[in-house]
Amino acid sequence: MDARTVHELRETILNRIQHILIHSYGQSLDSIDQNNLDAHLAFKGDPQLNELRLALYRMKEGTYGNCIYCKNPISVEILRRSPTAHFCESCAAKLSAHLKRNSMHKTAS
Ligand SMILES: [Zn+2]
Repeated sequence: MDARTVHELRETILNRIQHILIHSYGQSLDSIDQNNLDAHLAFKGDPQLNELRLALYRMKEGTYGNCIYCKNPISVEILRRSPTAHFCESCAAKLSAHLKRNSMHKTAS
């Protein structure tokens, strides 16, 4: 994934964080020290914020956008739709089929 796409997805993630902070906590991202952002978001204990926080963390580590199962890159279309995606299309489909076989529940994307 090129740096521009990572930057674009990072903006998307930050916008989502901003949205949650404003609507659930009446707080703006701008009021948070960027150096303490990770700890600040972790402290909220909000599962959605946590997913977004971990996506930012993976970006920092350079593992962002790789499928956690097969390690192949996740397509940019999937990441644009769901910037916190953990699985590539093929693994997501396999997982979904597996879950369908084992339960009546549908997988959350
Ligand atoms: Zn995969």
